[in-house]
Amino acid sequence: MVLEWATISIWLFITIGSFSVAFIECKKLLFNYLFHLFLPIFVALNDRIIMKKILLIISVLVFSFHGLAQSFDSYFEKYSMRFDYFRTGNANTELISNDIIFQEPHWGGSFVNLIDTFNYGNYKFEVLDSVSGKLLFSKGFSSLFFEWRYTDEAKFLNRSFSESVIFPFPKKTIRLVFYIRNQSMAWEKQYETFINPTDYAIVKQLAFPSQSFRIHNNAPSDKALDIVILPEGYTAAEMQKFMNDAQRFKDYLLNCKPFDSYSSKINIWAIAASSMESGTDLPGQNIWKNTLFDSHFYTFGTERYLNTLNNKMVRHLAANAPYDQIYILVNTDKYGGAGIFNYYSICTSDHENSDFVFVHEFGHGFAGLADEYYTSDVSTDGLYAVDLEPWEPNITTLVAFDKKWKSMLNAQTPVPTPATENFKSSVGVFEGAGYKAKGVYRPKMECTMKSVRYNDFCEVCTNAIIQMLEFYSH
Ligand SMILES: [Zn+2]
Repeated sequence: MVLEWATISIWLFITIGSFSVAFIECKKLLFNYLFHLFLPIFVALNDRIIMKKILLIISVLVFSFHGLAQSFDSYFEKYSMRFDYFRTGNANTELISNDIIFQEPHWGGSFVNLIDTFNYGNYKFEVLDSVSGKLLFSKGFSSLFFEWRYTDEAKFLNRSFSESVIFPFPKKTIRLVFYIRNQSMAWEKQYETFINPTDYAIVKQLAFPSQSFRIHNNAPSDKALDIVILPEGYTAAEMQKFMNDAQRFKDYLLNCKPFDSYSSKINIWAIAASSMESGTDLPGQNIWKNTLFDSHFYTFGTERYLNTLNNKMVRHLAANAPYDQIYILVNTDKYGGAGIFNYYSICTSDHENSDFVFVHEFGHGFAGLADEYYTSDVSTDGLYAVDLEPWEPNITTLVAFDKKWKSMLNAQTPVPTPATENFKSSVGVFEGAGYKAKGVYRPKMECTMKSVRYNDFCEVCTNAIIQMLEFYSH
């Protein structure tokens, strides 16, 4: 009996210790609550069998929870691996080829939410343990190459685009697998490569060391959304303008719902780096500027579509801070921008609607939202097939509407919903979205994803943004 009590005492000591570690690591109040709930019960109990059963249940709870908290440390270091590659192809085919692997000093993501639960993006990648095959990390994303595939040029031309994926630096050899959506929107394996983290070819110095400034908040990066703002087309003499602009854009984000209520869970960084010349390229007007990222309007023939093909320089500069999202701020008063899911967002500094463009593009880049407008001059016309349900949370073809915002509709709201005064404030299913007047539907008559309206995300877009904010802040 004495021996048994000694065993139980040791068990209690270990369990309490484990619990404390687990609790400190993950701060899940529920488990703390359970612990305090069970402790007086088994102290009061004399029946050893019941006691053993209770101890067993708590053991399972504690150790499975503790395992969750420790899985990051078992597989990853608290800094990043960046895998650079080229995506090459045309309208019909594409392939991935390795470029360079970098070790980067920061990891801006969660230590707990490592597996993508959203299923957004035209592509995704997975990081797996090379021996056990255990899935360690995954993330969906889109890219500029994917949009280019829908241009006329892609019907007769091959092109290569530089891309990068970033994940916590693995402790052991991993298998990195890329997927693309097939004709029926299901994931199809595209490419895989093994990476040994001790490979001496992994580049360990920062390619473009620059000063980083924390311009909003001080939350731990694993429990916050970290946005890094990069300057494009600001000369050395304009660096103070960039810092002022970054502050102003920080306010655009934090004064916009629902970001305003997550202010304490969003860190914003600015990186100081100057360009040789001020502004950006306007190829359609034969205006060329020597800038950090060689950004340009007239992407794929659309004047206001502003992008950069210099992915490597964008990533080199972003590596100076922990980041989940990259925002490129372009020093011009011209109207334009772009936002590509988990790729980057980009907008201009001084147009009168820059506040709207900033949050609209971030809707794409951060939350995977689609454009809800349908009258447009964008050249990616065939992007949505009306017989397939798109992956974006805020548009539907009604093919699989159950998986979208159907539960948010009132019973009286007709599907599709007529765009009349009666339904002006209702969540419905309004025809016209995703650059198509017919066959693609949006949740509300007006929204920041449809029209030039700052701080007016519809209920469906708001929900999608909140879910993503929650994912990054735990
Ligand atoms: Zn919306």
